[in-house]
Amino acid sequence: MMSKRTMMTVALLLLMVCVARAGAKYIFYFIGDGMGLGHVNTAQIYNRDVLKNPPLLMMKFPIASQCVTYSANSPITDSAAAGTALSTGTKTLNGMVGENPDSMAVYSVATRLKDSGYGIGIGSTVAGNDATPAAFYGHAHYRKHNDVLNADALKCSYNFLGGPMWRGTAGKDGLMTGDWKRNFEKAGFSVYEGYDQYAKAKDMKEQVLLLSANPQGEQVGYTIDSIPGALTAAQLTQACLDQLMRTSPDKFFMMIEGGNIDWAAHANDGGAVIKEILNYQQAIDIAYKFYLQHPTETLIVITADHDTGGMAFGREDNQKKGNIGLIDFQRISKDRFSDWCKTFINGNKSITWPEMQQFIKDNLGMYGAIDVTVEEDAEMRQAYDQAFVKRTAKNEKTLYNDFNAFAVKVFDIFNKKAGIGWTTTYHTGNMVPVYAIGVGCDLFTGVQNNVEIPRKILEATKL
Ligand SMILES: [Zn+2]
Repeated sequence: MMSKRTMMTVALLLLMVCVARAGAKYIFYFIGDGMGLGHVNTAQIYNRDVLKNPPLLMMKFPIASQCVTYSANSPITDSAAAGTALSTGTKTLNGMVGENPDSMAVYSVATRLKDSGYGIGIGSTVAGNDATPAAFYGHAHYRKHNDVLNADALKCSYNFLGGPMWRGTAGKDGLMTGDWKRNFEKAGFSVYEGYDQYAKAKDMKEQVLLLSANPQGEQVGYTIDSIPGALTAAQLTQACLDQLMRTSPDKFFMMIEGGNIDWAAHANDGGAVIKEILNYQQAIDIAYKFYLQHPTETLIVITADHDTGGMAFGREDNQKKGNIGLIDFQRISKDRFSDWCKTFINGNKSITWPEMQQFIKDNLGMYGAIDVTVEEDAEMRQAYDQAFVKRTAKNEKTLYNDFNAFAVKVFDIFNKKAGIGWTTTYHTGNMVPVYAIGVGCDLFTGVQNNVEIPRKILEATKL
C-alpha cells in the first residue's frame, strides 16, 4: 500500500509529466520586418548608452539564435518570399505570397492552427495586405495583387485582423475605398477605426478588423514623428490579445509585424529605426507579461523576414566619433523631412538657406546643439543649391519612397555624425536574429533556415 504522501508525490510527478508533454497553447509570433542583427544591436547601444536601460527584453530571452533568409531564386529575399517562408515553411520566388514556385497554394501555420481550433490574430503596422501579413492568410502570384489577397482576407475566418489600412483595388489611388470596409463588415467582421473606438466597443463579433483612425499613407506613422493618436504595435497586440481571450481563451496564435522598422531602414533613417525597435519592444512586453501568467502554456518567437539596409553602428567616415545620443535631437523622420522639402519644389516656392538651416536646427539639432564642420556645411549648401535654387537635383528612388535629394544629403550627414552606417537602401543577404521563450523554445537553437521556423512552431504545439 502506498502511503498518502507517496500517492501525492506520484500524482504530482504525473502532473509534471503532463505539463511537460502539453504543447504550446498560446503562441505569439513577432516579425520585425527588415530587423537585422545590426538594427537590434544599434537600438541596444542607444538603449544602454543613452537611456541607461537594462537590455532589450528580447535579448534576455533564453534562446537567441540566427536564421538564414535566402529565397528560392535569390540570396536576397523580398518580403513576399520571406513572409511565405516564415508563415508556410515553403521557399518560393521573390514576389510570391502563399504559393510555391509552381504557383500552387501553400498554407500557413495560422491556417493549420485555425483548423485545430486555435483562435487566430494577424496584425501589422503597415497595410494589412502587405506581403508579410498577407502570407498568413492569402495566396497570390504577385504581392501587389491586392484584389486576390483581399478576397482571401475576407474569407480567412480569423478572429482578428489589424493594420492602419488596406490597399484596395477600386480607387485610382490604389487605396482601400469605403467599399472595402463594408466588404469586411458584410463578411462578418466588426470594423473599428483606432484603438479607442475598439476599446470602447460593445457587442463585438467573432471577427474584428482594427484599422487606424489616422493612417499615414500605408503605415501607422513613425514613432519619431509623434503622430497624435497613431495606432501602435503595442495597441495592435493588446487589441488582438483581448479579442483572442474573448473568443478563444483556450488556445490562440497571433502574428504581429513591425512593418515600419523596414520602411525606416529602406529610408536609411537610423534614428527612426531605433525608435521603431523600442516601440516594437513594447508590443513584445505585452506578450511577455502574458507569458509570466501562463509560463507552461505560452511560446513567444521573435524574428525578422530579412535584413534591410545592412545597418551597423560604426562607419568608415566617422570611425572615432560615432555618437548615438545625437538621435535624441531628431524630431522628424527622413520621409517627413523629404515631404516638407518637396512642398517647395512641387509648389514652386522658394526657401532661403538661413530658413533651411533653421529647419535643420529645429528638427535635427545640426547648426544648433550639434556642431557642423566646414566641409559638412559646404556639402549641405551645395545640395541645397542644386535642389532648391537650380532645381536640377534628382530624387532618390527607394522601395517605399522617392526621396528629395537634399533630404538624402542631410540625413547622410546626420547618420555619419551619429555613427550609423548603411550598405544599401534595399535588403541584404545577412542572417537575422531569432529570439524565443516559453514552451518549446528549445526547438529554436542554432543557425536555422527561415522555413524551419513555422514548422517548429507547429512542433511546439504537439498537434
Ligand atoms: Zn520585409
